[in-house]
Amino acid sequence: MTAKLIKGTEIREEILEEIEAEVKQLKEKTGKVPGLVTILVGESPASISYVTLKIKTANRLGFHEIQDNQPDDIPEADLLALIDKYNNDDSINGILVQLPLPKHIDEKKVLNAIDPDKDVDGFHPVNVGRLMIGGSEVKFAPCTPAGIQEMIIRSGTETSGAEVVVVGRSNIVGKPIANMMLQKAEGANATVTVVHTGTKNMDVHCKRADILIVAAGVPDLVKPEWIKPGACVIDVGVNRVGEKISEKTGKKIAILKGDVDFEAASKIAGSITPVPGGVGPMTITMLMRNTLKSFKFQQGIA
Ligand code: NAP
Repeated sequence: MTAKLIKGTEIREEILEEIEAEVKQLKEKTGKVPGLVTILVGESPASISYVTLKIKTANRLGFHEIQDNQPDDIPEADLLALIDKYNNDDSINGILVQLPLPKHIDEKKVLNAIDPDKDVDGFHPVNVGRLMIGGSEVKFAPCTPAGIQEMIIRSGTETSGAEVVVVGRSNIVGKPIANMMLQKAEGANATVTVVHTGTKNMDVHCKRADILIVAAGVPDLVKPEWIKPGACVIDVGVNRVGEKISEKTGKKIAILKGDVDFEAASKIAGSITPVPGGVGPMTITMLMRNTLKSFKFQQGIA
């Protein structure tokens, strides 16, 4: 069997086009557009490149976008005051603080200071609670799990009654996606198992999965013999395993590998996400969708 590729790059384009069209319509109707502020503290090259991509995408969609760069030594109190300012700014629907923050700042305190109704990353405890309750309580699902669920839905994979196994229990991927897949809802209603470093016989659990979602951060952790023939395999892992020279730019770039042995798994799975080009492109896309959602909530449209 050769697995069908679930390409995040293609699904991203589909969704961004949908958002773009909706933003245009909403602008005609309300005279306003969704507003996103990205707060970047310091000058870490990785953070700058993530924020730049977010800004570029927001601009493409016609969002009102504010890029608020702050020095590395900004006092925590000043950062909290900045968040308060955007919490009270009606033109802003989404507040994104790029992580990690410098050591002298309490990350938790900063994230918890964001108004839960503008928390488009979905990390605030109020939104974690809303996600757990499910249904109409949910405002913002965290972006990577939301992207994973969207890929499962758009690839036509049946979730209702499916056995879903999630490898990893982090707060940003494993726990929320497990919680989302067990809800009585579209793209969910599955029987969910979560495995982690305390699990015995991980292979036995994985082999039962109709949908296997792997977010461990360990290259090639999942062996081909752990995969049920025909299963849908979502590989969230992004592991730097070396460097190579880019044919396009001639510059050094990282060699990335997922948590699943892709070559071998492709011969057994029914569908699979590649790394790179799988789950990766979905995260920023879902951030944009959450910002649009937030705007619609604020306008009383959603
Ligand atoms: P994390 O916080 O390090 O959590 C990893 C989880 O995997 C933990 O729950 C850990 O178990 C489990 N785990 C690690 N090694 C294991 C093993 N040998 N057997 C079983 N379970 C194991 O990582 P994360 O933030 O969830 O990220 C996971 C991967 O996804 C990383 O490669 C990351 O780069 C990638 N990622 C990609 C995106 C994206 O594409 N947009 C977004 C987020 C993350 P314990 O709890 O028992 O320690």
